[in-house]
Amino acid sequence: MLRKVIGLLMFLSVCSFALPVVSTGLDSIKVPLNILRGSGTTWSGKVYYKYTVGDNDSLNISLAITPAAATPNAPACTITKTVGDVGMFPMVTGMNGRRQIFFDCSFATAPASTDQYVATITILADMSVNEKLARSVLAAIPDNATKALMLAGGDGNAPQHDAFCTGDITVPGFGTVYGLSCCDGPHGVNGWGQAWGKATMFPCNGTSANAWDTALTYQTGKAIAQEAKGLWQGRYQLLGPMINLVRDPRGGRDYETFGEDPYLMGKLASAWIKGLQSERVIATPKHFLCNDQDYDRLTASSNVDTVTLRQTYAYPFEMCIREAGAWGLMAAYNMVNNVYSTENYFLLISILKREWGFRGLVISDWSTDMTVDKSENAGLDVQMPDKAQYTLLPAQVAAHKLSQDTLDEMVLRVMRAKAWAGCMATYPTTPDGLSRQALHDSTSAYNHQAITDSSAHHSLVLLKNDSVGAAGAKHVLLPIDRSKTVAVIGPYADHLRYGGYGTYTSSKVLPWPYDTVTALYGITTKLGAAHVTTNVATADYIIIVLGVAANDGVPSAQYEGHDRPDPSLSADDYSSPPVDQNTYVAPIIAAHPNNTIVVLTGGAAVTNGAWYTAPAVIFLGCDGERQGIALADALVGDLNPCGKLTITFPKLATDLPKFTTLGSDAIPYEKPTEGRGYPYYIGQGKAPLIPFGFGLSYTNYTYSNLVVPPNAVIGDTVVVTVNITNNGTVDGVEIPQLYITQTSPAAARPVKQLRGFARVAVPAGKTVTASFTLKEWDFAHWTLANGWIVDPNSNYTIYVGKNSMDAASPTQSIFLAAAN
Ligand code: BGC
Repeated sequence: MLRKVIGLLMFLSVCSFALPVVSTGLDSIKVPLNILRGSGTTWSGKVYYKYTVGDNDSLNISLAITPAAATPNAPACTITKTVGDVGMFPMVTGMNGRRQIFFDCSFATAPASTDQYVATITILADMSVNEKLARSVLAAIPDNATKALMLAGGDGNAPQHDAFCTGDITVPGFGTVYGLSCCDGPHGVNGWGQAWGKATMFPCNGTSANAWDTALTYQTGKAIAQEAKGLWQGRYQLLGPMINLVRDPRGGRDYETFGEDPYLMGKLASAWIKGLQSERVIATPKHFLCNDQDYDRLTASSNVDTVTLRQTYAYPFEMCIREAGAWGLMAAYNMVNNVYSTENYFLLISILKREWGFRGLVISDWSTDMTVDKSENAGLDVQMPDKAQYTLLPAQVAAHKLSQDTLDEMVLRVMRAKAWAGCMATYPTTPDGLSRQALHDSTSAYNHQAITDSSAHHSLVLLKNDSVGAAGAKHVLLPIDRSKTVAVIGPYADHLRYGGYGTYTSSKVLPWPYDTVTALYGITTKLGAAHVTTNVATADYIIIVLGVAANDGVPSAQYEGHDRPDPSLSADDYSSPPVDQNTYVAPIIAAHPNNTIVVLTGGAAVTNGAWYTAPAVIFLGCDGERQGIALADALVGDLNPCGKLTITFPKLATDLPKFTTLGSDAIPYEKPTEGRGYPYYIGQGKAPLIPFGFGLSYTNYTYSNLVVPPNAVIGDTVVVTVNITNNGTVDGVEIPQLYITQTSPAAARPVKQLRGFARVAVPAGKTVTASFTLKEWDFAHWTLANGWIVDPNSNYTIYVGKNSMDAASPTQSIFLAAAN
């Protein structure tokens, strides 16, 4: 492997023993010898250097101490031992900053003075094949005009050159280097309605999050990648996952994202990204940053203090970059603290590229209004979808508004991602619409029903299952007796529910029509047509399918570019004239208080209302293309529900903290002490309608014997265990959740934070031990002075329970002592 030196060094502290610094160029560099002490022929010392993350794939750092030029005959020095930032280590993120090497050495004879020596640190980088390819392509691109073509999309000349692909270029020695092609699709590939664009529709991430299932989320990401590569000529970049947080049930895109908690968001999104990228499709977590509402999303400013920004809103992005290694990132439309995200040096360079060591490409959101040299100088690499502004790039370089180095780095980032994805020189030959359809029918490569079905089953949440019936014969309403008749009614009984099915919705997925199963179809198939009626008066059970509207243009709806004005379960999108669903459902439940089951669909929480007076309530959300199967299985008990909510259901609109300020583009974010979601409710002492993490089952569990080590040292791995007993007669899967509270935090942080979860199969009547592993970062909070820190000598309360507000959660405390 070609070894090339590309390290960049800066020199640090000089002390009285320091030797003169002599730079020898890039290969090796002389640094001050700092604190060289000893006597006779045996000495020890240390050297400092500063390394700025480069573009190499692994490093080999070595140290030599040699006589200075003025005293070439000084006795030779042999290094006998080195400790510290030396030797071989992989190129990992977070390597910026001061580094040090301690050493022991011996001299042939006692030296007259240590001033006669210089220390030389050599940084060798072993570049991967991909890095070398990316660099050689960059070096061979003849001019800046050609480079610019790679950095913007949409010449529209051919299907593959649409708004979702950058331009092709010709590079001497390499032939055609094709544009980087991408597509939307956090919950399935979005083919924008083309014949070749049909795809598996998985549950929206806002719903699949309720499964708390990283393994299944990985499988979903992988399946989506396979389908993306099968889209016309292959798509190598997926514009997802969407990881802005649910700040409020009115948020226009709540359905797309993995809920309200930053930790859960980071874990699930990382699993999704790892799955997607296991197929060499570039993940693009979006929208960076604070696009947590859609109100005036093109121009609004999310105004947020740095601590809240870092420990809540940037947190899942940090995980996706550092832990999951996402190769792409999409900058948001909105401003953060009055600076556009695409022009935000602090976000894109200081945090993302420098601190997190991001090596991939930053892409703009679609048609962001930005100023070309401002954005590129602030860290934006690719502008989508049109190239109008990017044709200006060569002139910007000529005018010294943009440096040649910056332009080259932008191209290198694209080339590097293309080399990694294996799509530098060719699009694969992919089938046209028809043969793709045939493939879907006949092969598992395009048919991911098993995954979408498991996800739908694991994600369904049982919110309520009251006892009904006469005294002495009381029983929970669900599961129903499958030999009886059911009336399946309500505005969404026969409409497949998925988030944002409006015309301009980027997360729209078109499933193959014959794959889809609505609630009505699923129940009819399960029970047989003879058991299904629309006659409420004669039915043994009434199943009412309600939901949050999602069609764009409908005022009450939740869709991209539009927050709901009202967090209640207001009008649906199908009744004409529109009818408030609480008004519609109230008399039905009142007349049938013992046998009505409400099924709530859509991608948002709603406030209390008549819908919640039904004795049984199932939250189906947007549960994928075959959602009716999961629902029918749960109704009859073929599925024991296990999902748990990843959003808080409020009681009243007035319980919600400030969301947006209508009429103003300034969006006020909370202070670190206030929190959002469940920390907000806990901090304010407010009871929500249904807490974050809540979900029932057809059995019930008790938690006991929580074991937490009472003491540990910061940096230790802390293992926590708890016993879970299934007290019922059916097998189940329970999702225990671990929360921490720092007892007396030195600085403001949310009052209670999720830091662990598991899915545990517990057979009827049995007890199973669940285990959680906590690492240093899990205890940390973000400070202006020192970034992430764990307060030394501090107490933490650990709760492991069924949900965020489970009063019965076993609780223990742990003391974390300072590391030596
Ligand atoms: C959305 C993005 C999406 C892009 C391309 C934008 O309007 O905000 O999430 O990826 O369009 O469709």
